[in-house]
Amino acid sequence: MTARPLQEVPVTELKGVGQALAERLAKLGIVSLQDLLLHLPLRYEDRTQVSSLGSLRVGSTAVVEGEIVSSEVSQGRRRSLLVRIRDGTGLLGLRFFHFSAAMKRQLEPGKRLRCYGEARPGATGLEIYHPEFRVLRDDLPPPPLEQQLTPVYPVTEGLQQNRIRQLLEQALQALQTQPPEELLPTSLLQAAAFQHLMNWSLTEALQYLHHPPVEADLAELAEGRHPAQRRLALEELFTQQLGMLLLRQKSRERAAHPLIGQATALENQLIQSLPFQLTSAQERVLREINADLTQPHPMLRLVQGDVGSGKTLVAALACLKALASGYQAAMMAPTELLAEQHYQNLAAWLQPLGIQVDWLAGKMKGKQREGALQRLAEGETQLLVGTHALFQSEVVFARLGLVVIDEQHRFGVHQRLALRDKGQAGECLPHQLIMTATPIPRTLAMSAYADLDVSVIDELPPGRQPVTTLALPDSRRPEVIARVRKACLEGRQAYWVCTLIEESEVLECQAAEVTWQELQEALPELKIALVHGRMKPAEKAQIMADFKAGLSQLLVATTVIEVGVDVPNASLMIIDNAERLGLAQLHQLRGRVGRGSTASYCTLIYHPPLSQQGRERLQAMRESSDGFVIAQKDLEIRGPGELLGTRQTGEVELRIANLKRDAFLLEGLKPCAVQLLQQNPLQARHLLARWRGDKLRFAQV
Ligand code: ADP
Ligand code: MG
Repeated sequence: MTARPLQEVPVTELKGVGQALAERLAKLGIVSLQDLLLHLPLRYEDRTQVSSLGSLRVGSTAVVEGEIVSSEVSQGRRRSLLVRIRDGTGLLGLRFFHFSAAMKRQLEPGKRLRCYGEARPGATGLEIYHPEFRVLRDDLPPPPLEQQLTPVYPVTEGLQQNRIRQLLEQALQALQTQPPEELLPTSLLQAAAFQHLMNWSLTEALQYLHHPPVEADLAELAEGRHPAQRRLALEELFTQQLGMLLLRQKSRERAAHPLIGQATALENQLIQSLPFQLTSAQERVLREINADLTQPHPMLRLVQGDVGSGKTLVAALACLKALASGYQAAMMAPTELLAEQHYQNLAAWLQPLGIQVDWLAGKMKGKQREGALQRLAEGETQLLVGTHALFQSEVVFARLGLVVIDEQHRFGVHQRLALRDKGQAGECLPHQLIMTATPIPRTLAMSAYADLDVSVIDELPPGRQPVTTLALPDSRRPEVIARVRKACLEGRQAYWVCTLIEESEVLECQAAEVTWQELQEALPELKIALVHGRMKPAEKAQIMADFKAGLSQLLVATTVIEVGVDVPNASLMIIDNAERLGLAQLHQLRGRVGRGSTASYCTLIYHPPLSQQGRERLQAMRESSDGFVIAQKDLEIRGPGELLGTRQTGEVELRIANLKRDAFLLEGLKPCAVQLLQQNPLQARHLLARWRGDKLRFAQV
């Protein structure tokens, strides 16, 4: 093999890899020798010694040998061949649900077998289902046992373990003859936390993980705690940081219109019209945003703030900066319900200042739509509010200066960039402000949002009441209903949220309809409204407006009210089937109450028995109302993929590292990555090429 970096050597250069096999490998993401080497075993099998039958326990996976004492077809629920063997210490059943006549002849009493498999409780005592086996010949010495642990790889259809093991043998030879360059900066490895990894070169780590010695600690490997695994994870995470930083550098090199107009007069006017003062956190974040907006490069800033921290107002003030500079601003929300609310809030705040605020919904048709589009294209509209319909191709802005994206946690880096590019005018990109109420634990944010600047509104407006949370089994529903009655008759308002598995909006809406009927019967003295995702936007908006105005007292809703809904007088929330929701969603929902100055309550109704995770979630909700604490807990319970939402996981696509398990490795990576990019960009490129290969689309953004 020639001296090329392993990521440039296609697997087709290995012996025995033709077109068909190459395609199967590609399904596993394996294109180069480098990919193959990074395709680590899922687990290891110990086939280095023969275990006695008497030593087997349920769940033992072992090599055993014994003499066949019986072999018969049994006609249980499923026809099977049962072969029993013994070795002087015990008996073991071998059960085959698929077997041929030839196999049956081969497995006759008196023959000796060597088998491998997992023992489980069967009809005749311990049994192995479909063991691997070979018949031992009396005239020959038994075949040698394995000398090393046997790796078990993730495979795909048409690709057997043995095949991929052979390929890895070849790849490991290539690794030995031309070990890859060590690219992790020594300064990083010298950091106290990583010193134990210094002894592991990339080559040694790969060699070890594909062929651990017999004495290797399998539990440690299974949990991903082995230094060889950490050495690789560290390099991968470091490279991910580099990629994100580079992405960020690239976007800083793009041009944007500096928004340098004088907005002070407008700002003061807006602030003076409010019945409250900005919190100091809001003021600080606003200063950070305004500093970015005056730059000739596009802002890419994430504002994190717990539910109720007042992000909308911060966004409105940022928009004023754009408008005062003669540019338009757009604000995008994930649902029509929320977009509508934003529109109402912003119009109420900004129209009195003489600002043209307009609204565009996906379902808007005909004259109404044309009118909105025309006003926008002519520059009459200064601030446009809507859903992602804003970014359809026929939506043309006259001079878009700032895009605000609310509750963006479900979108990933690429969507973010695609949106930004839509707003491009000539050479210039709009500034982008992203707001999320899902606080992401710091370690994870470093990884998922490394391309963004982050501001945190870490303070709630004064006077907010903590929400008292309790969890009750559904057998206590009558008490909950009585409590709703009392609260509503005392002039407060309540939400009753019906949840179902997210996949089925239809079922969720049906459940809400049923609950609505039931509650109307149980609480005839109350005015009860219903809102769900399958209603027409105008209808939803009307129901919300009525509820806000106090015309209904109890609002039965699906999780459509999860984000942004703001009715300060609502101080009681019931969440049905709370065990079905994740922590982030529960926290979002609960954030709908506790917005006014009265004490608020959230009751989580669950259907017992609770799973371990379900119990932990409800407990976390009872114990904390701090979004960051909840997010950290969520990370512990669920792991990062789900926490960031499925669409986000693509961005943190990692081969080796696991953000939950290896989060501690992220500590201190960023400064070191910044330094490497400055001092040795070539080495950084090599690292990126090694880990990203041709997937290096980041660099082209
Ligand atoms: P979120 O950060 O969850 O989007 P909102 O922007 O919806 O929060 O704000 C929640 C409520 O708090 C709104 O009614 C808003 O008008 C109000 N609010 C915003 N800033 C302040 C403040 N500094 N003091 C008091 N209330 C505020
Ligand atoms: Mg909001």
